[in-house]
Amino acid sequence: MIEKVAIISGITGQDGAYLAQILIDNKYKVIGLTRKITAKSYYNLDYLNIRHNIELVEIDLLNISEVKNLIEKYKPSEFYNLAAQSSVFFSFKNPIATFEFNTLSVFNLLETIKNTNKQIRFYQASSSEMFGKVNNLPITENSILHPLSPYGISKAAAHFTCIHYRESYDMHINCGVLFNHESYLRENSFFVKKIIKESIAISKGEQKSLYVGNIDVKRDFGYAPSYVEAMYLMLQKDLASDYLICSGVSVSLRELIYYIFKKLNINQSVCQIRNDLYRPAEIIDIYGDNTKAKTVLNWNYQLSVFDTLDLILEEEQRNYEHTIRNNKL
Ligand code: NAP
Repeated sequence: MIEKVAIISGITGQDGAYLAQILIDNKYKVIGLTRKITAKSYYNLDYLNIRHNIELVEIDLLNISEVKNLIEKYKPSEFYNLAAQSSVFFSFKNPIATFEFNTLSVFNLLETIKNTNKQIRFYQASSSEMFGKVNNLPITENSILHPLSPYGISKAAAHFTCIHYRESYDMHINCGVLFNHESYLRENSFFVKKIIKESIAISKGEQKSLYVGNIDVKRDFGYAPSYVEAMYLMLQKDLASDYLICSGVSVSLRELIYYIFKKLNINQSVCQIRNDLYRPAEIIDIYGDNTKAKTVLNWNYQLSVFDTLDLILEEEQRNYEHTIRNNKL
């Protein structure tokens, strides 16, 4: 049997590692892309014990010659494009670099695939942040885009680039519009991971306060290892399309913090609001309708946000001492 080759850009991040595991389980040869190989590149892959099943390749996705060489060398049948500057907070501080990378990398990939092999199936990591200023909830695949951050703008531009190539050149391009999804492998600066990690530190007497921005906004949170399954399912369908991947329910960040505090017996007074952590513009409330993904892809997702928090809290507690030691090295 000929081995199928899949390329994952952004493999060193949260979703890349979990997706790689699914593809390895399904007998793919997995090529992972990174901007630069460092010790940190292997952190998530080692945690899942898959480093040796992956060929890690350094590439600048803003350089179309490098992209062309990559596609010609590895001849993938599937390409999962997860590489991005993925932080909304950081995008307000670095709007131009965020927009440049998140959009031009997509043009370089699609232009190369169009000119090399249009049969390559392509997944684009779109985001619920594209919707931003919301008029009607739940969000559906037909909701209007009105992003409220440089990150959201960059993802909307990349999303329309994908639709353009799919419609104009008959390419198999799928956009998974993922709402916030979390896991133990999330970077420490992202909200859920930060709350859980710092709350454990507070419960152990290693930290006094939890500093946060606007916690009255509401978000639709899910569990990353289950969300990446939807990426794989999209590329197995003969018809390319776009799908919302979400839990279908939103909760306020305050509710989420108090849930973790209660589990760890922490007094609510340690949660301190800091104005410098507010964003210039903020989505007030957002949740999506996942009916299309559940019916067309048979994506089976049943977890509530609180199930997700329980899973991450349990894993974080199990690994806490080990992670602290690693962070201090
Ligand atoms: P992540 O952990 O931040 O991983 C993204 C990877 O992209 C990084 O590990 C980094 O790998 C690479 N990257 C390439 N260019 C970058 C740049 N200019 N700045 C920073 N990193 C860059 O993200 P994730 O949570 O796995 O998300 C995967 C994709 O889904 C991203 O495109 C994200 O925007 C999108 N998304 C995520 C969510 C979510 O809730 N997690 C929701 C919707 C959409 P190297 O350093 O090895 O190059």
